[in-house]
Amino acid sequence: MTQEAASDNHMPDPSSFQTLLEASDNLCAIVDADYRYRWVNAAYQRLHAPSPDSLVGVSVRRVVGDEHFASVTRPRLNRCLDGQPQCYEIERQSAVMGERDLEVRYIPLMHSELGQREIGIVIADITHRRECERELQKMMSIAHLSPSSIAITDLQGRIEYVNPALEKISGYSRDELIGNTSAVLKSGNTPDDVYRNLWETIEGGQTWIGELENRRRDGSLYHEYTLIAPLRDDDGKVVNYAAIKQDTTALRTTESDLERLAFEDSLTGLYTRNGFSQALQEWVDREGWHSEAMVVMVDVIGLRDINDAYGYEGGDRLLIEFSKRLLQTASGPGLAGRIGGDECTLFLAPDPDEPIQTRLEAIVDQLSRPFDLDGVAIGIAIRVGYTRLNHGTRPADTLLREAERALFQHRADSNLPWVAYTDRLEQEARARVDLTRELRTALQDNQLELHFQPKVDLSTGHLVSAEALLRWNHPERGLISPGVFIPIAEQSQLIGPIGEWAVRCACEHLRSWQNEGLDVVRVAVNVSLVQFRSGSFPHTVHRILEETGIAPEQLSLEITESVFAQESAYLLRQMRELRAMNVRLSLDDFGTGYSSLLYLQQYPFDEIKIDQGFVTHLMNDDFSRNIVEAVKMLASALDAEIIAEGIESTTVRDTLLDMGIRLGQGFYYSFPLEAEDFRWLLERGSQLPLTADQIE
Ligand code: C2E
Ligand code: MG
Ligand code: MG
Repeated sequence: MTQEAASDNHMPDPSSFQTLLEASDNLCAIVDADYRYRWVNAAYQRLHAPSPDSLVGVSVRRVVGDEHFASVTRPRLNRCLDGQPQCYEIERQSAVMGERDLEVRYIPLMHSELGQREIGIVIADITHRRECERELQKMMSIAHLSPSSIAITDLQGRIEYVNPALEKISGYSRDELIGNTSAVLKSGNTPDDVYRNLWETIEGGQTWIGELENRRRDGSLYHEYTLIAPLRDDDGKVVNYAAIKQDTTALRTTESDLERLAFEDSLTGLYTRNGFSQALQEWVDREGWHSEAMVVMVDVIGLRDINDAYGYEGGDRLLIEFSKRLLQTASGPGLAGRIGGDECTLFLAPDPDEPIQTRLEAIVDQLSRPFDLDGVAIGIAIRVGYTRLNHGTRPADTLLREAERALFQHRADSNLPWVAYTDRLEQEARARVDLTRELRTALQDNQLELHFQPKVDLSTGHLVSAEALLRWNHPERGLISPGVFIPIAEQSQLIGPIGEWAVRCACEHLRSWQNEGLDVVRVAVNVSLVQFRSGSFPHTVHRILEETGIAPEQLSLEITESVFAQESAYLLRQMRELRAMNVRLSLDDFGTGYSSLLYLQQYPFDEIKIDQGFVTHLMNDDFSRNIVEAVKMLASALDAEIIAEGIESTTVRDTLLDMGIRLGQGFYYSFPLEAEDFRWLLERGSQLPLTADQIE
């Protein structure tokens, strides 16, 4: 303060003080040494005495009450009279002021004229201030307990407050952070744009919400979902920024794990279907459309059997090795994927020096070399389907589907070394899809029926048993042969219910013929390998036999030889169960399945059926005759009967009889007959074949 200014600060007139004090919101009073009010301002008068009587001359004791006066007021007033100013706070009830917080000050005064000590009382209403403080205290406790990190900075970003959560998450202590700018937490990975946008937003007085990647004290990174809001004073001026942050690192990690899982096969590290498709698309986008490039799809035949024999762990190890070899044959880094249990895919970039044929041979060669599982060499066979990019760009997904289609075809036609995708395959696949859809309703719509073909004693022409053959009476296409729809049923899980229906239907026919007192023969029903997959087929057969009241010996089950090409523990177990039930077992189409005789001997067959291919060529083909001889050997080892399929002429019948074959079936004797016609045949009991006038 300057000298001049000080001289301006002259002592005003005492009445000015009085006017000033009268107008004050504070409660002001002067009390004498006898504790009586000598003067009060209007506010004091209002608080203490709602009545209009003046407080002047009244004792303080009367106003505050005896007890309070004795314990609190008088000791303080006395101290003040001794020259010590007093200051204390009280909460008190007053009809006028309600529940209020008051700050009471006693100031020692000396009456200039009387020469006596007096006490000046100034009571300030601090309720609002106290409320704010209490509020603040609550907020601070919440901030303290909050699991989210909270920071308050000044307008330059210098940290003024951090809560314990922020200390914990960042690894920095409070002392290290306060006074520093929030830049200490920056990782350098959040793009500058994000910070620019953040500052623009908060400097514009708005709240910013976004994600920041920060760095802990130990250098590790973490993600934070962050809200930064400007804090304003009573005048609305921004004075601080508050940041509330949620650690989203765990969420991010889970997200990226999930993403990786969607694109990377966890067992082999190859791409998943999605991953492969995306990588292939990127290749095409980058390198352009190369008509000579191709997508190859392979699957491991009999992985299930390998799992059976070596456990899933063994199967997994084989797949891992398999995928390594696959990667070695891929062009470009890692364009190989595992898109299903045993299905893998491979992209081959064009190579002008190597024709497709050579490349496919190399793949088959490389992938089907024996694998070493704990010192045991495991030979595997693979199926291969592929599609060339050719002309006409297609999305990666379409290329994958085409290669898959070709692989699918290879499953159906395994004599080829691989199958290429063609438009015709696509059309056939569509037709198959249509047929599959229709087959789903065929059972419930009663479109399936069984026809019966007699099995005959070749020397007498007597009917000895019958084979039940499925027919699909399609409402538009007429009779569809099982050769067309059984493979579809096998691929679409429909073979379960259809196969069960066939067994039941055959047994029900047998029952009704028995009930009619007909000389009933045994009936054979064909069964697919797929029907054994659930493991409960013997149980199903047992149930049907019980429900229809048919003796097990009257039912025979025919299983084609091709299913015995590979060892299968579950098939052997179930066939033995069926045999133990006394159901007869027949080995169908013998000579077509490439199975070893030694291996077949384990199975409890009662009957072996020589495939019609050999029967037809018996007269002009030594190989076919050798097959018949082999069947005779196997049959005698198994103590089984032999039956020849596809007898179409007397010459074939005679040749078979000469070779010692006693039983047969074929168009020569009878076509497969509708149930009603077969019943008629049973009733007649005639020798077969029927003569023309018998058929009339
Ligand atoms: P499969 O069990 O070997 O049945 C014999 C097939 O040869 C039948 O064809 C029959 O009509 C035909 N056939 C009989 N005698 C002659 C003949 O002298 N010459 C010629 N060329 N063919 C003859 P179909 O009925 O078309 O059945 C084909 C295959 O479908 C059956 O072969 C069998 O494997 C399968 N199948 C039929 N019914 C069922 C069934 O209910 N379930 C299952 N899973 N498969 C069935
Ligand atoms: Mg058969
Ligand atoms: Mg057959």
